[in-house]
Amino acid sequence: MNQKGGVGKTTTSVNLAAAIAGTGRRTLLVDLDPQAHATLHLGVEPGELRERDRGSVYDLLLDPAYDPTQALIEVRDNLSLIPSETDLAAAESELGTLPQRHERLRSALRRLESTPAGGHEFVLLDCPPSLGLLTLNALVAAREVIIPMQAHFLALQGVGKLLETVQLVRRQLNPSLSVAGIVLCMHDQQTTHTREVVDDLEGFFSSSREQDVPWRFARVYRPAIRRNIKLAECPSFGQTIFDYAPWAPGGLDYKKLGEAIVREWDTMIDARDEASPLSEAEITVLRGSLGATERTA
Ligand code: ADP
Ligand code: MG
Repeated sequence: MNQKGGVGKTTTSVNLAAAIAGTGRRTLLVDLDPQAHATLHLGVEPGELRERDRGSVYDLLLDPAYDPTQALIEVRDNLSLIPSETDLAAAESELGTLPQRHERLRSALRRLESTPAGGHEFVLLDCPPSLGLLTLNALVAAREVIIPMQAHFLALQGVGKLLETVQLVRRQLNPSLSVAGIVLCMHDQQTTHTREVVDDLEGFFSSSREQDVPWRFARVYRPAIRRNIKLAECPSFGQTIFDYAPWAPGGLDYKKLGEAIVREWDTMIDARDEASPLSEAEITVLRGSLGATERTA
């Protein structure tokens, strides 16, 4: 999530989901943006869903009895999509008056995952550029927040507000929510300004290690995603970077990032499955130390 538009949320959601699916893990991407960019990026035409008798995330949010498998589309090997459509813009206001309006996505995903069509190991939620009810539904359903952003001074301005929102949701609606970290998008490694912003971010996160905040173990993910025109071209063909130009810098960066995230989760899950299972708190600490290793690597 990031309430700022054009920072790389959708590019990251789609290509990171594809990278994770590429490691052989069953992956689900949920498009929560009424602009349906993630849906289009994966080659699904939102306007044709109804004709094909398929639903979207809109149905899941508004109708608690809706069969979530009706909105599930297999888009690639190991990669499924719950698409969006422009009707979703209305959901924001329609949801406002409904009961359990924050928890609609969480319960729909729980229902989906308990069917044979579920069983996804990784679920990624692509948020709209706002902090409204759609994003709130994502924060209640999620375990971790990944923040795509550009390393520019002005881009930092919104991050405080974003972290505050996560803090609030953790206190009131989802105690297991944490901030996993920042993915640097459209990254220019060469500039001094970029380096200063990244140093600031890392300094801020390091100074939070002892505090009881949801970003306690957050870090700046590596690799940063380089600015790469192929990443901007592939959505218009309904293709991921791995369909379109897997060897382009954008493909290599998202592949590495996906593999790093899968490795990290495997380490945590193994730790949890051992004879004396770790508590959530211990797992969080382990995650923090993994983050630290990555930083020094
Ligand atoms: P958001 O979902 O946050 O609004 P997008 O992922 O749609 O942002 O990205 C905004 C624009 O920037 C899109 O046109 C996208 O193709 C382009 N873009 C994103 N990441 C990169 C990158 N690493 N290099 C070049 N263009 C990129
Ligand atoms: Mg987007």
